[in-house]
Amino acid sequence: MLFDTHMHADFSCDAKMTLPEAAAAAKAAGIGIILTEHWDRYYPTNPDQFLFDLDTYFRQNTPWRSDKVLLGLEVGMQPAAAAEDNKIIKQYPFDEIVASMHCVQGKDIYEERAYDGLSKNEAVEELLRDTLTCLELYKDFDTLGHIDYISRYMPYEDQELYYADHAALWDQVFTKLAGADKALEINTRRLDKPQAVDSLRVLAGRFRELGGRYVTLGSDAHYTEHVGRRLEVAAALAAECDLTIVYFRERQRIIAHA
Ligand SMILES: [Zn+2]
Ligand SMILES: [Zn+2]
Repeated sequence: MLFDTHMHADFSCDAKMTLPEAAAAAKAAGIGIILTEHWDRYYPTNPDQFLFDLDTYFRQNTPWRSDKVLLGLEVGMQPAAAAEDNKIIKQYPFDEIVASMHCVQGKDIYEERAYDGLSKNEAVEELLRDTLTCLELYKDFDTLGHIDYISRYMPYEDQELYYADHAALWDQVFTKLAGADKALEINTRRLDKPQAVDSLRVLAGRFRELGGRYVTLGSDAHYTEHVGRRLEVAAALAAECDLTIVYFRERQRIIAHA
């Protein structure tokens, strides 16, 4: 069974679905899900916006937990947050930890002003350098989330990422991930765009060349309509790149069969 390993519900302030609704949508689609609520400590615009009570999270969601409905967390990495984040990752019984970059140099890259004074090349370089810094500080995670998140928001005419523009930095990121036996997430949000598929094919293919083996597939759904969206496009991309699709239960890697 395929799993949609990245989505948001009750505990993410920007989501509009509940876990039971997401579970029902997944059941109808014949897939499993992992709930990965936002956990962004020291969020620049609002430090408390993407944090919540983890005891309540487990108390409220455990009745819905099953072998097809798993409970994870999307940790927004920032150097200043690493020590505290590493503690809670160890402290709670998550199925999967998605490590993501939402902030670079203390700026929220969702916001247009984060790019003030930066060329596209400089913005992407900052992101990759910060990713490398964070990957030194965060070791206890399962998959690196949406490497093309910046492409959703960066205010440049061409929003795609090109491996060749920052080959050495991408190689460092992928070598580090592969060496630590981590998975790479193929986020399906932008896979309606052929150019996004092309960009990710090159990046995921390079991850494979550098020893990467595993990918997770995640929709980043915030609404029930998006649960499992374009999972088949991501699965085809994984197959093209000879990458094995996995998900995580109790932090153990499991091979997913389409
Ligand atoms: Zn995210
Ligand atoms: Zn997310």
